[in-house]
Amino acid sequence: MSGTERYERQVLIDGWGTDGQNKLKESHVGIAGTGGLGSPAAIYLASAGVGRLTICDYQDIEVSNLNRQVLFTTDDVGASKVHAARQRLSILNPDIQVIAYDEPISSDNIADIFGDCDLIVDCLDNPETRLIINEFCVERSIAFVHAGVREFYGQVMLINPPATPCLACFFDSEGFADDGPIPICGSTAGVLGSLEANVALRWLLDMDPGNDGVFFSVDLTTMEINRIEMAKNPDCPVCGGLNRL
Ligand SMILES: [Zn+2]
Repeated sequence: MSGTERYERQVLIDGWGTDGQNKLKESHVGIAGTGGLGSPAAIYLASAGVGRLTICDYQDIEVSNLNRQVLFTTDDVGASKVHAARQRLSILNPDIQVIAYDEPISSDNIADIFGDCDLIVDCLDNPETRLIINEFCVERSIAFVHAGVREFYGQVMLINPPATPCLACFFDSEGFADDGPIPICGSTAGVLGSLEANVALRWLLDMDPGNDGVFFSVDLTTMEINRIEMAKNPDCPVCGGLNRL
């Protein structure tokens, strides 16, 4: 099975081609979280031929994960998410390198985990760690794809500092008291995780149509996607003083 055959349907896309495919092969994407968003995002980034994926999660697989975390099966319950994910992704596409970190992301270790990435995909479920990624990406001017999901609703945004607003321009961790498990439809997480992979691939291929910094709100009860132009917050505690537009 040749690598060319594996990717033949996507290189046919106008603007993708073998040059784009080579660009993906040389790319390194970090995926923070391998759960409901991270599973589909990682599957599509791996199958598209992104040459290096660094995945990070610290949890073990639970039965209640299986309605949405499509990297895992019933047999995986009790195993480490990142180790199971690395194995699954390597079987899906043996041509790529998958690096796994089985630890929680913190301000202390994030540079070691994601410092070498071209792009980071936020597939997390807690605001505190999202803001750690945001701060790191603003400091290093690394682009990242943010998404969140709940019930049949989600959001996705490409944040590309310092050109765009950052997450902390309009979001803080206040008001996110832990009130138990987040209700979530598995296929909705699948849509949002796939959207993250789509945004990431187009960004890596320089195909972005100018949606950087646009917040997309997705309502899968009505099938509407709303486009909200976000502005930089001059009082933002993270990016407020940096290259203000
Ligand atoms: Zn900001």
